[in-house]
Amino acid sequence: DQQTLVRTLTSIDGRGYASYKQLSGRYTLGRFTLSVDKVQVDPYAPPSLMQISLRREDAELPADLLDDRLGRIAVSDFLTRAFGDALSEGPSERSGAAAGISIGRPGQQVLERTSVVITEELITARLSVALPAAGRRALGRKAARLLTETLPRIAQAALLHSSLDPEALRSHVALLRDQEDLRTQLEAAKLVSFLADGSMLPRRSGDSDLPLGADAVAFRSPEALRRSFTLASGRQVTGMGVPEGVTVIVGGGYHGKSTLLRAIERGVYPHIAGDGREWVITTSSAASIRAEDGRSAAGVDISAFISGLPSGADTRSFSSSNASGSTSQATNLIEAVESGATALLIDEDTSATNFMIRDDRMRQLIPADREPITPFVDRVRALFSERGVSTVLVAGGSGAFFEVADQIIALEDYTLRDVTAQAHQIAAEHKRTTSQPATPDAAGPASDGPAERRFDSLPARVLRRDSLHPPKKTKPARSRGPRMIQYGREDIDLTAVAQLVDPAQTEALAKALDRLAEQSDAEHDITALVEKLVRRLDTEGLDSLSPHRGHPGHLARPRAQEIHAALNRYRGLTVH
Ligand code: ADP
Ligand code: MG
Repeated sequence: DQQTLVRTLTSIDGRGYASYKQLSGRYTLGRFTLSVDKVQVDPYAPPSLMQISLRREDAELPADLLDDRLGRIAVSDFLTRAFGDALSEGPSERSGAAAGISIGRPGQQVLERTSVVITEELITARLSVALPAAGRRALGRKAARLLTETLPRIAQAALLHSSLDPEALRSHVALLRDQEDLRTQLEAAKLVSFLADGSMLPRRSGDSDLPLGADAVAFRSPEALRRSFTLASGRQVTGMGVPEGVTVIVGGGYHGKSTLLRAIERGVYPHIAGDGREWVITTSSAASIRAEDGRSAAGVDISAFISGLPSGADTRSFSSSNASGSTSQATNLIEAVESGATALLIDEDTSATNFMIRDDRMRQLIPADREPITPFVDRVRALFSERGVSTVLVAGGSGAFFEVADQIIALEDYTLRDVTAQAHQIAAEHKRTTSQPATPDAAGPASDGPAERRFDSLPARVLRRDSLHPPKKTKPARSRGPRMIQYGREDIDLTAVAQLVDPAQTEALAKALDRLAEQSDAEHDITALVEKLVRRLDTEGLDSLSPHRGHPGHLARPRAQEIHAALNRYRGLTVH
């Protein structure tokens, strides 16, 4: 109990830092239980891992907020933020008393995370605590104050219903339930995304996810695409539905095209109230596709886009340690389809031009049999007709997509206009000279023959034995920075994985790789391997990514798409 903890800490005051090791164990602090799961060995090592919990009935959280999975995710997100606020705003911060305690910092998204878990009996907050030191000595008395006074006070302020704003909590839960209700309604409405009128899409800066603020022009739907929905709470939302099929966003430079696409891309996650994107909801599997030259690839069938390379390499099973712009974009696209993506989001700014289009003059100069690339414009219809994969594409520099697009929307001064009829007319007047899909659902250029199928039967990729076990692996995978994972001796670079939004997701991906490696002895098919892990996360929760019981670290849930992305970027991967 408390006295034991104080006594232990007082006795090690001024002794070597390693004497903190004695802290491991559980202590009762009033109505809270403190569990010290892992103690750092020196002041410069990663902080110690602790959990503080209390009984659900003592927290007095309304049961109706916790009776479904979404409610529990929303409440734990709310409590995590409240805990973070209490750490940085309370009197303890002014005196510096809470310095060293962290619960992880959620961003603009509401993600399933391990920072606060709610079970039938308990509410548990997971903390990392840098235990106080002077040089390499333990400051035991200071630690005693931190753990037995400051920490319970903060937990009191953040975990008890009586200290929270009950209305704010309730609307946090209602918002997430409504957002996810809308997401489930998208499919029946045959939409890949919805953006409500009044949404604020632009961000403060390229490296900030916060809203731009007063200068932003509110989103407004073009009439032709306007839709309304009634949500679980009775709330109504009206805005633009982006239909399934092929949608092209056009407009002059700097008129807001990329900003719109980026909002749709982030819409796979729910955003907090006040973010401006809380009513931008995208089908959950949508995947951003970009060129990523230099990435590795293992046995990916990119033959729909690239075949007959001068090197003679077989692009039905393309491997490379240094893919080019076009081959990397083809690889990203096929892997996304493999991961179950039903919508692809592509921006001209981050695409390889020769992957996307080829103009008439070039088609005349270089005969088709000398050009290994079949551009995306010739395949985008087949992706939808054979595989049901929609595309939302930003193209301000080329009208090549007009005839293959179901809808074309133009941005002018950040405001949308439906220009489908006009663009289709322009396309009819300026027909391309080379064979092109005349009707929107033709499978591709005539030379392929009508029976040619490209996307409906992608071969399963089967891992080669042991390919997921790094040679001489000694340590578990770990994240190094927000977009890098160290796995064995390799660094997995996730810089180009656009829908990775939280460093805690990267941390979770590192752990996911270790779990995939364990399972890869029994399951060799990449898609099935990831599916199994995702099912396990659904049933056993995010904690199951950790090999240990107790504090699993600060993890946030990545989608299946990001798990695929991390696995596929491991340079040691080899497939049959
Ligand atoms: P494009 O891709 O068409 O060249 P961007 O999306 O990159 O244009 O936007 C250009 C600039 O305009 C960015 O600085 C962005 O923050 C800003 N912007 C985009 N949409 C809006 C908006 N709705 N209101 C105010 N500023 C915006
Ligand atoms: Mg742009």
